[in-house]
Amino acid sequence: MQKLYLIAFLIFSVSSAWSQDFEEKLYEDYQEYKEPEITNRRFKHALVTQLLDKHRDGIFKIQQVGESIEGRSLNLVSIGTGETQVFLWSQMHGDESTATMAIFDILNFFESAGFEAEKELLLSKLSIHFLPMLNPDGAEVFHRRNALGVDINRDALRLQSPESQTLKRIRDSLDADFGFNLHDQSRYYNAERTAKPATISFLATAYNYEKEINDVRARSMQLIVQMNKVLQNFAPGQVGRYNDDFEPRAFGDNIQKWGTSLMLIESGGFAGDREKQEIRKLNFVVILSALKSIASKSYEKEAISDYEKIPENDRMLFDLKLKNLNYELEGNSYILDLGINRNENAAEQENGFYYTASVEDQGDLSTSYGYEELDAQGLTLEFPKIYTDLIETEEALGQLNVSELLKQGYAYVRTSEELRTGSFSNFPLNMVSEDFQLRNILQPGISANFILRENGEVKFAIINGFLTEPAHAEKNILNSRNYN
Ligand SMILES: [Zn+2]
Repeated sequence: MQKLYLIAFLIFSVSSAWSQDFEEKLYEDYQEYKEPEITNRRFKHALVTQLLDKHRDGIFKIQQVGESIEGRSLNLVSIGTGETQVFLWSQMHGDESTATMAIFDILNFFESAGFEAEKELLLSKLSIHFLPMLNPDGAEVFHRRNALGVDINRDALRLQSPESQTLKRIRDSLDADFGFNLHDQSRYYNAERTAKPATISFLATAYNYEKEINDVRARSMQLIVQMNKVLQNFAPGQVGRYNDDFEPRAFGDNIQKWGTSLMLIESGGFAGDREKQEIRKLNFVVILSALKSIASKSYEKEAISDYEKIPENDRMLFDLKLKNLNYELEGNSYILDLGINRNENAAEQENGFYYTASVEDQGDLSTSYGYEELDAQGLTLEFPKIYTDLIETEEALGQLNVSELLKQGYAYVRTSEELRTGSFSNFPLNMVSEDFQLRNILQPGISANFILRENGEVKFAIINGFLTEPAHAEKNILNSRNYN
């Protein structure tokens, strides 16, 4: 009896160790597979077709399966001869590109040497189909919706958009056993009641209002339980579970209903990873891990009850949180927290963007968190001043003593119109016009530019949502050139 136990134990530990090795090695060797042509989130369809062309003479079957409203191609990349059909699509929302990047890394993985045993398993058991960038018209302008102004994820029933029709047709023609619905979510989501961002969130979508669990949905839950275990090794505590309320118009919900075990994977935020390159790597690891799990059926051993143990998504993160500030109003002092977010705007420069930071919330924010936090106890918040000399040349701008201006409480500089032309600036103060007026009312929605004093001395400044000390003015604030 004891001997049997020992053998069972050995077999179990060998198989689970082998599995973990796979993911760790994928993570370690990732650079070998990372598609070098994609370096940021705002790439467009032209790059997707260029990369598909690179793979066209390789091991994949690549076929055009549809066209967007503006005539951009939708392509299906297939590999494997197995019975189990797996369908993965990304970027149904045009500004959610993380998984598209990971898909091209995965194509490189299949086309490179190494991991022969795992590839043999995957390709003999599975037929894998990728549809990268389902909404290329939205991606062109980095917007959520398609050229019809429709959210494709609310078009699964009416099917007015050609992109939606293509998705449905491919799902039906494959009669896919498993589906991966790959999205991005707000970087401000956190794992419930923790300061950790929900870097990846999962959902086994419901197929009815009652949120029942049939075999199809149970498999999604088991796979998610396993993917969560994998991610805990690389981003501990940074996994969330998306709300499973039934949305009758959404693709995830309907595809689950149509009999495909559907996993929604949402890529959120990660500290210091605005371009989501680390999150792209996590997608690469976790998707390949899930494919292996499907091929080996290892997910079947997971308990559905563990799905509910994954923390829920919450939205309690700010880019910058200032705690316990002193603020004076009408002769009285108040203690306030401020939550500040740096919102993105498309820049004229190719794939570029700049920030306009604003106050999201103020008051008691003790239940919220910040990617960056400052305990500002003893510091008094003030509105900054405008430096009134008109600056007319880049040279004159460069000669300004920014540290000295910050120490004196200035955060704005009047500049000529010429200097304010162009999409963004890394000058560490705000450039304003000659007739710019300050509106000093502390309310959510206002721009995040402040001075923090201690005993009358400027300790910190907040410029375009970036915390800076006067002696070390922050140079990389991606500010609007024309602050107004
Ligand atoms: Zn989405």
